[in-house]
Amino acid sequence: MEKISLECKNCKSKSEIREEKLVFSEKKVLEEAYCPECEEKIYEGETDGWFHVAEIGKKDLADEECTYPMP
Ligand SMILES: [Zn+2]
Repeated sequence: MEKISLECKNCKSKSEIREEKLVFSEKKVLEEAYCPECEEKIYEGETDGWFHVAEIGKKDLADEECTYPMP
């Protein structure tokens, strides 16, 4: 699955959805992805992993809200 960019219909914030998987395959189930801003459901699809949602287009707050560990 490619990365998907979506705009939330509710708050108009843009998010990027990426499928994450374990090494081995599991049974596919319907998973949902939610807007990080307002928790509106923005995506639904079958996966044997899970969906990682990252908010994009908020560079002003990137420094404050960065929670990713440095490599
Ligand atoms: Zn939203």
